[in-house]
Amino acid sequence: MPTIAPLAGAAAAGPMVAVYVHEPEQQQAADRDLRHECLVRDALDELRRSLQARGGHLLELHGALPDVFAALHAALPFAALWAHEETWNAVSYARDRRVRAWAKQTGITMHELPSNGVVRRLASRNGWADTWQQRMRSPIVPTPDQILAPAESVSDEAWQALPVAMRTAATPGIAPAWADWQRTGEARAHDMLHSFLSARGRDYRRAMSSPNEAPESCSRISVALAVGTMSIRQAYQAARRRARGLREEHATRRDAEAAQWMHSLVSFASRLHWHCHFIQKLEDEPRLESMHYAPIFDGLRPSEPDLERLQAWRDGRTGYPLVDACMRSLRVTGWLTFRMRAMVMSFASYHLWLDWRQTGPILARWFTDYEPGIHWTQCQMQSGTTGINTIRIYNPYKQAEEHDAAGVFVRRWVPELSALSDADLIRPEHTPLMMQQMTGCLVGRDYPAPIVHHETAYAFARDRMHAIKLMAQQSGSAARVYEQHGSRRTPLNSRTR
Ligand SMILES: Cc1cc2nc3c(=O)[nH]c(=O)nc-3n(C[C@H](O)[C@H](O)[C@H](O)COP(=O)(O)OP(=O)(O)OC[C@H]3O[C@@H](n4cnc5c(N)ncnc54)[C@H](O)[C@@H]3O)c2cc1C
Repeated sequence: MPTIAPLAGAAAAGPMVAVYVHEPEQQQAADRDLRHECLVRDALDELRRSLQARGGHLLELHGALPDVFAALHAALPFAALWAHEETWNAVSYARDRRVRAWAKQTGITMHELPSNGVVRRLASRNGWADTWQQRMRSPIVPTPDQILAPAESVSDEAWQALPVAMRTAATPGIAPAWADWQRTGEARAHDMLHSFLSARGRDYRRAMSSPNEAPESCSRISVALAVGTMSIRQAYQAARRRARGLREEHATRRDAEAAQWMHSLVSFASRLHWHCHFIQKLEDEPRLESMHYAPIFDGLRPSEPDLERLQAWRDGRTGYPLVDACMRSLRVTGWLTFRMRAMVMSFASYHLWLDWRQTGPILARWFTDYEPGIHWTQCQMQSGTTGINTIRIYNPYKQAEEHDAAGVFVRRWVPELSALSDADLIRPEHTPLMMQQMTGCLVGRDYPAPIVHHETAYAFARDRMHAIKLMAQQSGSAARVYEQHGSRRTPLNSRTR
């Protein structure tokens, strides 16, 4: 049962009913996929059981807001709405405004409470990190043991008063391909965190970038955080407890294993901080989902996509084995390690010179942990359009050498290359023709030749990005972005490489 302040607040105020509204507008949004519906379904089933065990109820409704609330209010009059402050996409932003206006007009009190370190109506980034620490260290809200449900909430009469279309909320079951790792129910999410903090996470700092090791060595809590079955505060406090336990356990002797654990826990805690740091950007400027940080970047890349390039990237047929393996694996599993996400985005934005607004929605639909505040700001960061971050143009060959030298990941997801030697797997087009014939994999026939020439594409992107970044700095755009969004812990870094 999620330990959530709105639930505790509503339960303390009197009889309450929990409501989940399946919104068609959200289900049809460009960043939504069936896999997200399945994950929500999983979480709701467990939530329903937890509420019922406490005497409460979960009402699942279907329709647009605030229409659904208006119909519900007519059937089951209520005095207040309790919710978390949500920083999601443009659809939810517009919906929240409509709901607030409706509540005001109807005389219903709206309580919106923070769920993480993101600060609503933030005046300045100065001091933000301290607020984040305070929130993370404050006590977890206890889950109410008993929930008083309004007597009429489950009566046939009240239910029948709702329009039929709002009562149906059919969503499919979990799809098997990613079900094992990516279930979102609260119990599963906390098992995941526990197994990470007690065993899997020991080598986190070293292994987090490897497409082979990261699925096991990373926490994998991102889906639970995105769906809301775990809070950042729960994860942060659990990590602190683990660190405290390690310090006590190893107080008297130096221990390499404990040191390794501590490094990993520090890295993990920083990422929990980043989680909110990035979402704060979208909270402060919702337009970042679809617009550049500064107008100076408008027109940098063509607004009409090069469809051949876009499709090759999406389908994992660019001729760059590690990029292709990542895209094919992501489509099936819904997850990639940070480094591989950054690489596929960088490849699309720099090598293929595609606008992040053409590629970002594809990743959003495929990421089971899609979180708009992190996603869009990362997409922009990996495309060089923030003006304040180091421009990193990942070299896919170097990434393969460093993170998949034995070709385990590439062989798994690009099986047509599996007979090539480890060295040839990095750049199959350099494999001698006779070897290509012997292994039954002719580049250009069985596997695509590189869609762009690496050195040429790299040099083009580097020059263009260097020039525009200079313009952003000279025009004052970069300073404005830093003032509003820059991390006060990291100095402004203008180095290009
Ligand atoms: C282009 C791109 C798009 C991304 N889109 C998303 C997204 O939609 N949703 C999402 O949760 N993450 C996104 N990330 C960040 C990161 O890749 C994932 O958070 C991470 O891989 C999730 O796996 P994990 O839970 O095992 O992470 P861990 O490494 O175990 O980290 C723990 C938690 O810290 C947070 N975190 C980790 N890395 C980052 C980061 N770089 N920035 C912000 N928070 C971070 C996440 O909440 C994560 O669950 C994106 C990264 C890139 C480069």
